[in-house]
Amino acid sequence: MSSASQQRRGNQSLDENCIFCRIANGELATEFVAESEHAVAFDDLKPIAPVHVLVVPKRHVSGLRELDDPLVAAELLSLATEVAEARGLFNTGYRVVTNDGEVAGQTIFHLHFHVLGGQRLGGMG
Ligand code: 5GP
Ligand code: ZN
Repeated sequence: MSSASQQRRGNQSLDENCIFCRIANGELATEFVAESEHAVAFDDLKPIAPVHVLVVPKRHVSGLRELDDPLVAAELLSLATEVAEARGLFNTGYRVVTNDGEVAGQTIFHLHFHVLGGQRLGGMG
């Protein structure tokens, strides 16, 4: 399925063609950094910083624009905080960011927050 058609599918419980749905639902034996009722966190495949963890909802949500559940939104942010503490970033600081849409650099159309840290991070523009 193309990422464009995947993006149009919006919210649904599980998309078997979506890699993050498969990871989040335990199909790919990925080790979780942290987990809550509606979200999981796992290391990025190609880290761009010493700590680079992805926090994703278990349910398929294509991007931030599609996130319509405040409970899941709160859980994603609190899991990101938990990850930062678990990875020792509380003393130094860290970045939490999401790319929504292809023009913003989104390549996987299942909502994810990047938790980045462990080094000085460059500016955003
Ligand atoms: P985006 O560009 O959509 O904001 O971020 C997608 C991120 O997912 C990238 O940092 C990329 O390295 C990561 N990624 C892509 N495929 C996989 C995968 O199969 N497993 C994991 N753990 N990360 C992935
Ligand atoms: Zn998905």
